[in-house]
Amino acid sequence: MEAASLSKLCVHTITTKPLSLPEAIEAYRETNVAGITVWRDALVPLGVKESAKRLADSGLKIVSLCRGGFFPATTAEGRQAAIDENKRIVDEAAAVGAPLIVLVCGAVPGIPLAEQRKQINDAIAAVAPYAQERGVKLGIEPLHPMYAGDRSAVNTLGQANDMVEQLRLANVGVAVDVYHLWWDERLEAEIARCGRNKAIFAYHVCDWRSPTRDMLNDRGLMGDGCIPLRQIRSWVEAAGFDGMIEVEIFSTEQWATEQREYLKRIRDAYLKHV
Ligand code: ZN
Repeated sequence: MEAASLSKLCVHTITTKPLSLPEAIEAYRETNVAGITVWRDALVPLGVKESAKRLADSGLKIVSLCRGGFFPATTAEGRQAAIDENKRIVDEAAAVGAPLIVLVCGAVPGIPLAEQRKQINDAIAAVAPYAQERGVKLGIEPLHPMYAGDRSAVNTLGQANDMVEQLRLANVGVAVDVYHLWWDERLEAEIARCGRNKAIFAYHVCDWRSPTRDMLNDRGLMGDGCIPLRQIRSWVEAAGFDGMIEVEIFSTEQWATEQREYLKRIRDAYLKHV
């Protein structure tokens, strides 16, 4: 019964950052986690080829590769370098069998946000056909506005939906992450719009701690914060999404705990709150 109710539970390797890829695979399986989203740093110790083999043999569903993006730059050379790097990331995703790359689109202080969004749009248009040929999708992940200065110029689901509708490419959609979007009064409507575009490619969960002590590494375990997780999930599923539900938690506090015990707490929190 438990395995059935966990059939959509996916965990990001960054969530259990202290574990190596083989350790994470083993621990996820022991906890009945069904899917894995692989962060690129987890591929480094064994290399892409051996990591791909371990993942293929793991029995876990490989949900996505994190992450591509970081497109805006002050020079044309910089923007081209980002496109080239993202094509390498597409190759990596194809090699490890990840059907989706999550895009943290990037932001550079000093360039107007509207100009950066145009640069992001152009870069995705340049990478998408290459990804399509290799069977890889690209998911634009809008980030919370607190990151508009230096991590992403795409900050609302509305902006991501605008991009998807402008690009009109079958392999370009959106990664909906509750941490970044829960505050938006237009969230339900924009999730529905994303669903109509068949563009909800991923759904990421964690919680928003109050107070948040660190802008990057203080995400909460589901149930430890103020995000209405059940409500947002109901909107996403009403919009037609039936993919995996991905637990993505950057937490200095949780990384300091015993990670196999932590995975059990993740599993319990998922069953109780998500
Ligand atoms: Zn995310």
